[in-house]
Amino acid sequence: MSTIWNVVRTNIGWTIGAGRTTDFWRDPWIDEVGPLADYIPVTALATIGPSPVASLVDDTGHWKWYLFEYILPRDILLRIAAVKAPSANAPADLVGWRGGRNRDFSLKLAYLMRAGYDYSILDLVWKIIQKFPGIPHVKSFLWILCKRKLMMNVERSNRHFTVCSRCAVCGFVSEDIEHIFKFCPPARQVWSELIVPEKLHDFLSLGISEWIRANLGGACSFVRNVENWNLVFGYTLWNLWLHRNDFTFSNAPGNFGNICDRTKAMVASLDRSTRLLRPIRPAHGGAAIGQGQWSLPQHHWLKVNTGGARNGETGHASCGGVGRDCEAGFRQVVLEMDSLEAVRVLKDTATGYLSINWYVKELCSRSWTVHINHIKRSGNNVADKLAKNANLDCLEPTFFATPPPWVTSLVIEDVHN
Ligand SMILES: [Zn+2]
Repeated sequence: MSTIWNVVRTNIGWTIGAGRTTDFWRDPWIDEVGPLADYIPVTALATIGPSPVASLVDDTGHWKWYLFEYILPRDILLRIAAVKAPSANAPADLVGWRGGRNRDFSLKLAYLMRAGYDYSILDLVWKIIQKFPGIPHVKSFLWILCKRKLMMNVERSNRHFTVCSRCAVCGFVSEDIEHIFKFCPPARQVWSELIVPEKLHDFLSLGISEWIRANLGGACSFVRNVENWNLVFGYTLWNLWLHRNDFTFSNAPGNFGNICDRTKAMVASLDRSTRLLRPIRPAHGGAAIGQGQWSLPQHHWLKVNTGGARNGETGHASCGGVGRDCEAGFRQVVLEMDSLEAVRVLKDTATGYLSINWYVKELCSRSWTVHINHIKRSGNNVADKLAKNANLDCLEPTFFATPPPWVTSLVIEDVHN
């Protein structure tokens, strides 16, 4: 065990409960961040003794920002702001294995991580590919590409399926995934048409999984034309693959046509058929909640809508929420959100490693009735707008007693629906 302790240690994850046994500076209690001590000068760390996370929180459950705000980078402070501060009544802090969904250890995950797979990214990519609006066999192709299981000439040559590991398109000495999808002349040409020139290097520098995750997930900062970018990106990869196969396996290669034009035609055709299949909205509102429109809460019920947003360029995430019909009091509450994953986490309070489960369970057990429902994004516009416009200069939540001017029209629209 001692020989691999460093590998084990880097994959240990903390779940903060009461915050009494985790060291704020020296333990890596925020996933993907590592020990906060790494972000401050060594001389400053030398003056800081053991500091339980709970000692950095005041009696009202808020972080004591003044104790560390001046010394940590802004990005790290935003990560801390996203963690629920420990509570004296919460269970003890827990330590587990970061690779597992529930912080549980499994030999398979340990092997995958040891072999270099970033399981968390693959899991995330799978969810993004699952939502890809293209046809199923392009989805399958993207997943196989993501797992680097496409049989390229280097691998075919290793298995003696061919005697030549060269690229059939340009003659490059070893044809692998990076070459065909990023650096072969047709790929170079197509990306230079689609990507902003000064961002091309960064765009091509991402690893395959991260590349697919970022572009299918809506990161458009690289792109000249953001319309349907996830479809354009996915179908460009698909056409680069078909184009390569045309050269590798066809007796008369070279009649494939322009990859960009072919991709545009496919995306336009898909977009047309999606529009035709989309349900027609009634002209005068009145749609039921299941059809994706906000509806007034019942008499004596308070409705709370929440939403989250992520800035594709900076990676910063934010959230927002709105309570309506507060005069009804807080004894009967409907909580609505457009993330099915969030609804699942909030309802699954019996198990789970997330400390938020404990807080949700504690909140729900108070003397009120809470219903947690999913609503389509089109019915959650006010919360989504509040999330997108969250003020990240402020580390504590901002409260508005009345709607800020930039959501007023959406609030009125909801009432008239
Ligand atoms: Zn090539």
